[in-house]
Amino acid sequence: MAEAPPTQSRRNNMAAIRSRDTNPEMTVRSTLHAAGWRYRLHTPHLPGRPDLTFPRYRTAVFVHGCFWHAHDCRYFKWPQARAEFWKQKLTANVERDRTVRSDLLGQDWRVVTIWECALRSGNWQPEDIPAFFDMWRGWMSGTFRSADLSMYGVTFCK
Ligand SMILES: [Zn+2]
Repeated sequence: MAEAPPTQSRRNNMAAIRSRDTNPEMTVRSTLHAAGWRYRLHTPHLPGRPDLTFPRYRTAVFVHGCFWHAHDCRYFKWPQARAEFWKQKLTANVERDRTVRSDLLGQDWRVVTIWECALRSGNWQPEDIPAFFDMWRGWMSGTFRSADLSMYGVTFCK
């Protein structure tokens, strides 16, 4: 059967898949896997299609690029060119992140966000990620519902 040329939406889809499988996420995945953690990828029925999920722990993990998610860190600067375009786009991303997070918490999931700058700054080594999750396993029965890992360390929220 001859294959039809990719439609625009399929092309966008493929680009999205490629952009998802880029570096910080792969580092997180491979170190967790090597440490014996098993997860699902891009669980489609959950808000925001989390990058990784640990269904047994009802924990969703996002690996965020500091630029695309407008992280308040030294790796993010508002672009000078097409400033208005970027302001709208990145502000919408931040809004969506906020909604996704509260939807997941509302569905009784816990949410871990790993920012690109955690690893990129060298403040975290790849093997620190599974070590964090080993600790998080203990915290999962506690009051903290979400955590952010970045170059600044870990922030927990209820
Ligand atoms: Zn950052």
